[in-house]
Amino acid sequence: MPRPPRQPKPDSGQLYRDRACRSKRRFRTQGDALDAAAALNLERERKAYQCPCCGHWHLTTRFPED
Ligand SMILES: [Zn+2]
Repeated sequence: MPRPPRQPKPDSGQLYRDRACRSKRRFRTQGDALDAAAALNLERERKAYQCPCCGHWHLTTRFPED
């Protein structure tokens, strides 16, 4: 099975965010996202943000240096 041609490396933040968007879970509301974060019960703080690409909410790990 031949490999598909590689796409040009994105050099814009918009494309990077779109890629992140596709790999993340989407939530319809901030409340849904935060409920899911609580359910995950991870040791790291999770933050919900509204995605500029899809308009839904995603979770991101918030590191101290942010
Ligand atoms: Zn998104």
